[in-house]
Amino acid sequence: MAETSCLFCKFATGEIQVELIAQNDGAVAFADINPQASIHLLIIPKQHFENVGELATSAADLQAVMQLARQAAELSKISDTGYRLVFNTGADAGQTVFHAHGHLLGGRSLQWPPG
Ligand code: 5GP
Ligand code: ZN
Repeated sequence: MAETSCLFCKFATGEIQVELIAQNDGAVAFADINPQASIHLLIIPKQHFENVGELATSAADLQAVMQLARQAAELSKISDTGYRLVFNTGADAGQTVFHAHGHLLGGRSLQWPPG
């Protein structure tokens, strides 16, 4: 179910238009508004889950997100050079949008450990 006050639910349903890079039955991918790398996409389930831990309770939605991340990486031509898929979860990780989303980052050398 879509949460009425959730921005990413509105992106997923099309109530607010956002240019989709790719989608499948359960997930959509679009560019982050504040990119941290030359490729920075957000991969979100169409259904509302607060974070990736909640998303993990639904095998079909989790698989849709992970498969779309793989496809988006291929479309963005970062599968071979490498990429990072990050799910910030909760306060210590700095999560600011409480609809589960994977950050797909690539196109540059990424530091480890992250800050
Ligand atoms: P978090 O901090 O929750 O892991 O990541 C939220 C991400 O959503 C941030 O990277 C932020 O730039 C992105 N974001 C927030 N609002 C919007 C928006 O309206 N459009 C898009 N495309 N990205 C957004
Ligand atoms: Zn939502």
